[in-house]
Formats: sequence, structure tokens, C-alpha cells
Amino acid sequence: MKVLPNVLDRQFFQHQAEYEQKALDVLHSGWYILGKEVSAFEREFAEYAGAKACVGLASGLDALIIAFKLLGIGAGDEVIVQSNAYIACVMGITANGATPVFVEPDAYHNLDADKIEEKITAKTKAILAVHLYGQASDMSAIKQIADKHGLILVEDCAQSHGAAFKGQKCGTFGTVGCYSFYPTKNLGAFGDAGAIVTNDEKLADKFRIYRNYGSEKKYHNQMLGTNSRLDEMQAGLLRVKLKYIEEYTGERQDICGRYLNEIRNPYIKLPKIRDGATTVWHQFVITTDYRDALIRFLESKEIFTTIHYPIPPHLSEAYGYLNYREGSFPIAEKLADSVLSLPLYNGLAREEQAYVIAAVNAFVPEKEVL
Ligand SMILES: *Cc1c(COP(=O)(O)O)cnc(C)c1O
Repeated sequence: MKVLPNVLDRQFFQHQAEYEQKALDVLHSGWYILGKEVSAFEREFAEYAGAKACVGLASGLDALIIAFKLLGIGAGDEVIVQSNAYIACVMGITANGATPVFVEPDAYHNLDADKIEEKITAKTKAILAVHLYGQASDMSAIKQIADKHGLILVEDCAQSHGAAFKGQKCGTFGTVGCYSFYPTKNLGAFGDAGAIVTNDEKLADKFRIYRNYGSEKKYHNQMLGTNSRLDEMQAGLLRVKLKYIEEYTGERQDICGRYLNEIRNPYIKLPKIRDGATTVWHQFVITTDYRDALIRFLESKEIFTTIHYPIPPHLSEAYGYLNYREGSFPIAEKLADSVLSLPLYNGLAREEQAYVIAAVNAFVPEKEVL
């Protein structure tokens, strides 16, 4: 049996007729940018995300860049972010000329609230909380620190559609929540797409103007904007998928519940869930000191895995100018060498899950074999 890390079309085939009908409707509508599908998606997604407003954008990275830009964060400002974040999180900060200040993650792979305050300086303007792998960060503590120091709180929800902390949806604790609908995300489009959610309607209006060349009324440009519009086709297709999101999240929770219950291997650590946090399981990330051997062992059984992420942002070539070295963030570096994401996607069959579990349980690192 061959098991891939992700197979995107299984979700499509489940509701094929509806997607095809929606695509035809959009094609026949004669209206392709900023129309009724985008407005309807924005309304429906805001409701789902527990926010007053949603603004559809071209991508998740754009959501971060535009959020920081319109919140006035730029050159000379510092933004706190976790050291094991996805590199796009950091690019959202640096695209505006601001400086990322890395804080090591906690045992749940999220920003360690106990380590934030020691990194706050006179230049600190914001905290970016990334709900990595689908699990809510420690939002009570993080929000309290942001409020105490007068910092803007931005949430990166690109991996956490529907996740909550103590019953409150992620993306609503701070000023804005930034979403990606890249095809592999928990709510994935059939191309690139993103959005910002916020409870501040005035700010939402600014995002709406900014994404469309800075104009509310055609050819009347109030500010220097950009082109980061969600298109009608993606919005329409996302609306179809959004109807089934609870089902999709439930399916991911079932698969990961099974992984948690049935994987038993002394050489492998399973992910932990924080009290009060829900996880929507964007990834099921195990850690092991024998990762390369495990990857090879699973590949010999035709099970393919991925690493999120093999190089922490501070050691990437792109951020060489920040002058960090190996050893600057030991926890993130150790994670980069030991994390592994098991196959996880909607439509992963029960036999495939069992096959993965049996293979992972059968793994013994060579040096431990007598
Ligand atoms: C995917 C992702 C992004 C970027 O989203 P794009 O739509 O690919 O630009 C940002 N942050 C995190 C945590 C992500 O997983």
C-alpha cells in the first residue's frame, strides 16, 4: 500500500458535482473579481471565524504583510514571533521593514508565553502568535502580556481554521487574524487565497480599500494600495468547502485521535494538547531522535512523510542578514532536526491509517537492534 503525505483531490471528488456546478456558475456569471461570491464568502467566513468582519485577499502571506502594514508596523519596529515558525510568518514581518524577534516555542510547538517579556524592548510593537499545526497558542497569557505592554496582537491562523482557546476562536484575541486558503490548509481553495478577520469594522474597510489599489470608488484612490484581491472563482469554491468544514475537522480529529491512541513506540514522542486549547490538526507532528532512520524505514514501506520545517527561519539563507548562527535558538534547531509529519488529510482511508500506525509501531532504530 502506498500512502502519500497529502492527496488533495479526494476532498474534491467527495462533492465533485457541487464544485463543478459552482465553477460553471461563476464562469457564466460574467463577473470574476470582487463580486457576490467574495462578499458572501466574507460574510460566511467571518461568522465561522467568530469575527465581525472578513476581508478576502490573494494569499496568507499577503494577509500578514497587509495586516502589519496597515497597523503601522515598519522599519525600526520589532515584532515577537516564535523561532520555529513557518518562514512566511517571518516574511510578513520583514516585508514591511520590521525586525523579527524570535522567542523559543513551548512543549506544544507554539510561542512560549513565559519567554516573551524578556524579549520586549522600547522598539517592540507587536506579537505574532502562530497557531502552529492547528493547535491554539496559550492565548490567555499572550493576550495579557500584549495588553500589559501596549503591544498589537496579530494571530496567524493559516493552520488553525476553527481552532479555539477556552471556547474562543483563534484569530479573535488580537486586532486581526490572518488566514491562508492555500490548497493544503484545513480550508483549502483550488489555487491561492487568503483573508483577514477582525472585530474592528473601520480597520476592515481600510483592508478592503488597500487590497484594491487603495480605492473604494473606481479611479478615486485614497491611499497607495496594492492588488491583493480574492477572486470570484476561489471565493465560490471556498463557500462550497466551508459548508463541510465541521465534517472535515471532525475527520482530522478522528484520524489524529487514532494516531494518538494506537501509536506506541518508545523511540517516538507524540504531540501534546494544551489544557483549554483545541486543535484542528493541520499536521500530526511526532518528534524522534531517529528521524532519518524512521523516514527511510517508512519509505521502504511506501509511506511518505514531510518535515514542517527542516530549517528554522533564523538559519535560512534569506535571513542571513539577521546574523544568527547555529546555536542561537537551540529549541527550534532541535525541533527542525527531530519533527516529522505523518500522512494526514481528509479522505485518508481507515486501512491507510492502520497501515501507517502498524509501520510506525514496527520501527526500531538500527543501533538499538541487537
Ligand atoms: C501557509 C502559511 C502561510 C502563508 O500562506 P500562503 O497562502 O501560502 O501565502 C503563513 N503562515 C503559516 C503559518 C502558514 O502555514
